[in-house]
Amino acid sequence: MSTPPDPETASGGAAARLKAAAHAAIERRAAEIAALSDELMHLPEPGYAETATAARFSAWLRELGLPQRTGLAHTGVKAVLQGRGDGPRIALVGELDGLVLPEHPLADAATGAAHACGHHAQLAAVAGAAVGLREAMSELDGSVALIAAPAEELGDVDPHLDAGSPKGPPRTGDGSEGSEAVEFPVGKAELLRIGAFDDVHMALLAHTGRGGGPRFSVADTLNGSLVLRARFTGRSAHAGSSPWLGVNALKAATTAAHALDAQRDALPESDGVRINYLLSGDEGGLGSVPSAAVLRTMVRANSVEALQRARDVATRSARAGALAFGARVQTDTLLAYLPLSSAPALDDVVARNARAVVGDAGAARGRHLGACSDMGDLGHVMPVSHPYTGGADGDHHSPDYRVRDHRAAAVEPALYLAGAVVDLLADGAAGARRVLAQSPPRLSVPQYLALRRGMNRREIWEEQ
Ligand SMILES: [Zn+2]
Ligand SMILES: [Zn+2]
Repeated sequence: MSTPPDPETASGGAAARLKAAAHAAIERRAAEIAALSDELMHLPEPGYAETATAARFSAWLRELGLPQRTGLAHTGVKAVLQGRGDGPRIALVGELDGLVLPEHPLADAATGAAHACGHHAQLAAVAGAAVGLREAMSELDGSVALIAAPAEELGDVDPHLDAGSPKGPPRTGDGSEGSEAVEFPVGKAELLRIGAFDDVHMALLAHTGRGGGPRFSVADTLNGSLVLRARFTGRSAHAGSSPWLGVNALKAATTAAHALDAQRDALPESDGVRINYLLSGDEGGLGSVPSAAVLRTMVRANSVEALQRARDVATRSARAGALAFGARVQTDTLLAYLPLSSAPALDDVVARNARAVVGDAGAARGRHLGACSDMGDLGHVMPVSHPYTGGADGDHHSPDYRVRDHRAAAVEPALYLAGAVVDLLADGAAGARRVLAQSPPRLSVPQYLALRRGMNRREIWEEQ
């Protein structure tokens, strides 16, 4: 009597062989992958303007013989590695942009952009994973989308806050593909809007970690965030002879800021709220009562409901400042990022592969990070995983942040991302189907777009 083959063993054998082939191909070009990460680190560009970075990534894919689309949401790039049949499609995502941080030693002199978040290494990791997966696709049941995404960092939000004003939308293109107006301040939201993820079932992105962190870790959740801009309008008057004839807009704004600070304890600890604000007055002289002031507040929290609670406090505080002084205030709210919840089943596949590459360190789950990512937006419409790599020194978004070890930041994630894709798509894509069954999307793309647009609002308050 013969024993039927054990499916686990059979698929494990095929997956192990395909992974070995993918890893060998990546290792053969490891020096080039590390060099690409280093090259891109010295080429920082701000969001939606990453033309040279996108061109470099595109050239790498062209050399691999992959057809591609470019100019998605201005600078995005997408190529597909096709396997057998029409199984699930997995996106490997790399971010294109630096953030504006002029004091960073590698900042671009003209734009102030610097790779103080390590996105250059992500892109090199995706380029490296493509090299490996090309060797395995003919035996994988599905396909892989390689996506370079623009504008993960939040840039100048004023054009987006003004989108409903006569100034019009933030960008107006020249009519060529990808140059159309951008609706959203972050790139993955924009890629979702234009349908670039419509054929994708799940997405992986390995983000460069902070200095001193492990060579691999996963966080369960990240905060979402919104921006609330309060424009106060008062009335100028002589600050010495007749200040009582004026309405001091700057003091109305500082009163609003105090009201907001005084209510921090009133927001539940479990909401994970972070509040950061900037205050600016008009450019009038010290001799006059200031007639204009702007309070820009970024509110971060770990759920849409928590963001709404914090937004309501910030809005009430702005009105309180205006009320106290008889000023007028216009508040504009813009959703920046949705909170991220990664898919545990997908994290498990990535973590298993990462452990095989970097060892056991830091694969623990159960963490919430106060930062934000537009992978949170993607995570509302499909399962996502957003692990962190090693290889960097310093803190994210600070002048001392820098990738020193491009193997840890780019080559190692290339190895484990490729390994994860093999595990997901081998054996009839049973692994991917399991992830999809365990992590159903919370929203369709139209529902997501409605949620995002519904969070934006303009309100005007003045004493009648
Ligand atoms: Zn960042
Ligand atoms: Zn980042």
